[in-house]
Amino acid sequence: MGKSVQCKVCTSPNREIVESWILEENLSSSVVSKRIKSEFGENISQSSVWTHMKKHVMPVKEETIKQYAEKRVKRPEPQDPQEIQNEYQKTVAQAQALAKQNVTEAEKLDHIIEKEYLMYVKAVEIMEEQFETQQSAPKPLTDYIRSCNLNITQAIKTKSEVLGTDAENKKADAYMTWVELMQRVDDDA
Ligand SMILES: [Zn+2]
Repeated sequence: MGKSVQCKVCTSPNREIVESWILEENLSSSVVSKRIKSEFGENISQSSVWTHMKKHVMPVKEETIKQYAEKRVKRPEPQDPQEIQNEYQKTVAQAQALAKQNVTEAEKLDHIIEKEYLMYVKAVEIMEEQFETQQSAPKPLTDYIRSCNLNITQAIKTKSEVLGTDAENKKADAYMTWVELMQRVDDDA
């Protein structure tokens, strides 16, 4: 996860410094390459720095999402309500479509939070209908609602891990600036 034995930055004792120069000081990979040479006498090329940031820093966020997906509460089968099932199918299809798009990790989580909330509202509606006719709600339905709640809470927590506090937000902003910068370098090359 986010590490390679062949990567000069990953294996460097100065990995954290290199990442902080890019993410916090917003330096370009060529400046970082020169600075690591002058300050630590290490030879790390601009392209090594660039590859490291692209392949071994970015995927850490993807990994967070993956871990979230694994931690996510498996839904109990709702007692019939076909509507919940239909909605769920749609949600899954949308999530898959979203995964193919180039969206940020935070946006993916926003999408999950929104969808879980929709499912939650839907299930509560069904539960209220059940109350009217049966006096009590079937356990699978209350379990279902609880699972929506847990997933919303977990998604919000994961989002704060991805974006984090204000300091982490700044880091995310810096990262975006860096990505744009690298795109320009790529275009010029
Ligand atoms: Zn690396």
